[in-house]
Amino acid sequence: MTYKSTRGAVSGVSFSEAVLKGIAPDGGLFVPEQNVRFDSLALAEMCEMDYKTLAAHIFRKYATDFTDGEIEYCVDRAYGSGSRFDGPDPAPVTHLNGTLSVLELWHGPTAAFKDLALQVLPAFMSVALRKRSEQSRKIAILTATSGDTGKAALEGFRDADGIDIMVFFPEKGVSEIQKRQMITQEGKNVRVVAVSGNFDDAQTGVKHIFGDREFNELLSEHGWQLSSANSINFGRLLPQIVYYFHAYFALVRSERISMGTKVNFVVPTGNFGDILAAYYAFKAGLPVGKLICAANSNNVVSDFLRTGFYDANREFKLTISPAMDILISSNLERLIYDMSGEDEKATARLMMELGKQGCYNVSRSTLAGITSLFWSDWSSEDETRAAIAGVWKESRYLIDPHTAVGIDVYDKYVISTGDMTPTVAVATASPFKFNRSVAESIADANDPALRDKLAAVNEFELLRLLSDSTGCRVPASLATLESRPVLHNRVCATARMKEEVQNFLTGSLGSEPAAF
Ligand SMILES: *Cc1c(COP(=O)(O)O)cnc(C)c1O
Repeated sequence: MTYKSTRGAVSGVSFSEAVLKGIAPDGGLFVPEQNVRFDSLALAEMCEMDYKTLAAHIFRKYATDFTDGEIEYCVDRAYGSGSRFDGPDPAPVTHLNGTLSVLELWHGPTAAFKDLALQVLPAFMSVALRKRSEQSRKIAILTATSGDTGKAALEGFRDADGIDIMVFFPEKGVSEIQKRQMITQEGKNVRVVAVSGNFDDAQTGVKHIFGDREFNELLSEHGWQLSSANSINFGRLLPQIVYYFHAYFALVRSERISMGTKVNFVVPTGNFGDILAAYYAFKAGLPVGKLICAANSNNVVSDFLRTGFYDANREFKLTISPAMDILISSNLERLIYDMSGEDEKATARLMMELGKQGCYNVSRSTLAGITSLFWSDWSSEDETRAAIAGVWKESRYLIDPHTAVGIDVYDKYVISTGDMTPTVAVATASPFKFNRSVAESIADANDPALRDKLAAVNEFELLRLLSDSTGCRVPASLATLESRPVLHNRVCATARMKEEVQNFLTGSLGSEPAAF
């Protein structure tokens, strides 16, 4: 298997290089150059595999420059004996009713779905680094985070060979739980710094550092190369393909479907990474009916999938599903490339228009390809809250606001199409990670005393309160958070982020930053 850019300038790139580079040199995204296809015989064989074995089986088709031993090392660390998931199955499936099942992707160390990929990406990178001729190069992962990605990357990369990681988060832009998760981070190769600004400031600061040629040369003299753990990296998509197969096989094994029956997936969507992995699973032979793409009120993607017109020129809204508050869904580029018949010129032109005007229109045939497989809609804040309350009331099952967007859009799908195909809804975060909106949603609207009580408690008391009142268990990593020692207390102005990076990687610094 080799990889090429969606914008056409490079091809024949190995999996290792695609993972280390993250983004193609022409600004495009790396996509597989050959087709992967599991036939019905292969599917029958894969159906009996445990998660780790299934992951290795799928990885072998895409990471062809890795030896079997190297792949075994990667999957064992992530999902096998070194696993940090809270049970033997990192992605268990729960059945809500006769047609709807939930794929729980929040059993990892940071209680959100990004763990499934970020527990294995560092191993991919370590192996890839060892294959490089320039042995002396070390990788520094640099990330700005609005909450979930940063913590999942920190947990994934802590103590990785030859890789250090630095995360910047907006001092006032993350929840108390998310902040605590980051500033208590352990590991000898990690650093976490608060930025006195909002997420955009932190993100812009990181982008400037990546684009600063002189600074990158200075780091290079010290043996460092900057890289990213962002979801445009193919090394993050590949592990996500696995859990769609895994969920399908779980339905077969529980005799809800027979092998070969089509299944729908509903995926809460932001950067379009998770649902793109479902599409790659479909391309590789997984029997899929519809891919149902669920957006929150930042509904650029759902509008696009219906009309073929992508228009990011609209107000950015802060919602209770913040991981989906996004106007530019980067991974859509890969879908457009495929659906336009791998037309790299058209893809490059559309992405240029997006950069210049904030909008673009795809051709009629591209749109027809998209709508034959994808269905999409979005949820308002009230609808999201109602879905949390509704699922709790009907099934005594607690969902987070991102998952709730998916459930609400699934209801709209069924009403609109009448399609009762067995469906898997992807649960992307633990309800305890977004405990305040979850607790408020299920609290009786007619009970003002309870609402006042919720408003008065801090996030940690709220964890216990939510757990006591629902009987659901707080994930271990969140339950112990309050008592963990704070290990990172640096805070810097946006203008000083570069110095922070230099200080971390080369040990040299101007003045000491303030501590909080
Ligand atoms: C990142 C994230 C999403 C969005 O996933 P994409 O791959 O960006 O579409 C949804 N829910 C949660 C909880 C997330 O952390």
